[in-house]
Amino acid sequence: MIKTRFAPSPTGYLHIGGLRTALYNYLFAKNQNGKFALRIEDTDRSRYVENADKELVKAIKSFRLNFDDGPIYQSKRLKTYKKYADQLVSEGKAYYCFCSKERLDEARKNQEKNKQVPKYDRHCLALSKEEIEEKLKNKENYVIRLKLPDNTDIIFNDLVYGEIKINTHDIDDQVLIKSDGFPTYHLAVVIDDHEMNISHIIRGDEWLPSTPKHVILYQMLGWEIPKFVHLPLLLNPDRSKLSKRQGDVAAEDFIKKGYLPEALINYIAFLGWNPKTEKEIYSMDELIKDFSIENINKAGAIFDISKLNWINAEYIRNIVTNKKENKNDYKYIIDFAKNILDKSDRIEDIVKIFSGRLNNLLDLKELSSFIFDISDYHTNMLIFKKSDKNATIKGLKLSLKYLEQMEESRWDENNLNDVLNTIISDNNLTPGDVFWPIRVALSGLEKSPSPAEILYVLGKIESLARLNIALNKLTS
Ligand code: GLU
Repeated sequence: MIKTRFAPSPTGYLHIGGLRTALYNYLFAKNQNGKFALRIEDTDRSRYVENADKELVKAIKSFRLNFDDGPIYQSKRLKTYKKYADQLVSEGKAYYCFCSKERLDEARKNQEKNKQVPKYDRHCLALSKEEIEEKLKNKENYVIRLKLPDNTDIIFNDLVYGEIKINTHDIDDQVLIKSDGFPTYHLAVVIDDHEMNISHIIRGDEWLPSTPKHVILYQMLGWEIPKFVHLPLLLNPDRSKLSKRQGDVAAEDFIKKGYLPEALINYIAFLGWNPKTEKEIYSMDELIKDFSIENINKAGAIFDISKLNWINAEYIRNIVTNKKENKNDYKYIIDFAKNILDKSDRIEDIVKIFSGRLNNLLDLKELSSFIFDISDYHTNMLIFKKSDKNATIKGLKLSLKYLEQMEESRWDENNLNDVLNTIISDNNLTPGDVFWPIRVALSGLEKSPSPAEILYVLGKIESLARLNIALNKLTS
């Protein structure tokens, strides 16, 4: 049985890298008809952020990465960790260490001076049973450390990075239980992955250096070692590590800007994985079907916002064009628009006319602002570069006349377009004499949706008012 897990620490928001880790775990589990679990790694109390766990669960669910197991909280499993640590101590595979921070610092300094690998000098390994009991009785602070076997190669195979080999000489007798009684990440992660029957550990490659420590723990506990899959680093375009300083890295920031959850998932799936086809738009079901560990890359993946914009724009356009087939997503877009725009009974029409021009839904606010409030524009803007003042005035006057006569019930995009074309052909005018000044008169902008679209969204009264203002500007 294939089982994966996502194991975030509740230290803040869901990072884009975390979302990718969760996604790959989910996709692989579902591709293999396996299970996907969620575990909250909350044993580092100094980094704990109130409610971050609940926010994480909410975020993961909002991306539809439904988990079959969990959330399991490590803080509720302290007894289990202690039990295994005690077992290792009684088997002589781990030991109590009472060293103060000052002593450890001192020892480390000396090692650095002598160009030795900085690691615990095993001072407390020499303590007798009686000395240990005495210290425990006196309630001295202690940690429990793993006693690594001497000069032993730890070898494991990562499914992305290949064989990794390191000698125990180069690693520390790691702490298993901290002085606050909580386990370290290394101990808890091994025990939990074993007890939860995790078959594949898929996580960011910042954990690769910790993996030998886990492998040796599995061996010392006599447990089967799961498969390891480390994911390539996420990079900024300048190839530095993706970080908050260079922009948004919290998944929810993208959602707030109006990136659709599916579009973000689609984009993130490609950050380190490649289906080896030309196809770029993938639904979750398609991702599940095509996902494979073999197609995960080793090289760092660059987070490229322009690519994300392109994918998001594709999704928005497609959903709005085919709203009947995409009811839920369409509703999501409309609800988003309602939240960011001024009150209007034309929200759906506004979304429609701008849907081909949005990188994200928040763009809608700026692009459509002229609908709610047109800002002043220079009179010259009304005159198209291949037209002149007289032709423009003629075009506007005729447009006003024709449009005034139009019945409101016929006021829709097709009829409006017909009327404008008739004005041009019947009066020997060019599109530049009619379409251009109407567009500017209605929007105050050089670039906007077509005149018929804006006329339709603004409605007859507001449209005529704006056309009259434009005519006044030209004739006064
Ligand atoms: N708690 C670790 C993190 O926040 C998870 C590491 C792992 O998946 O083993 O990234």
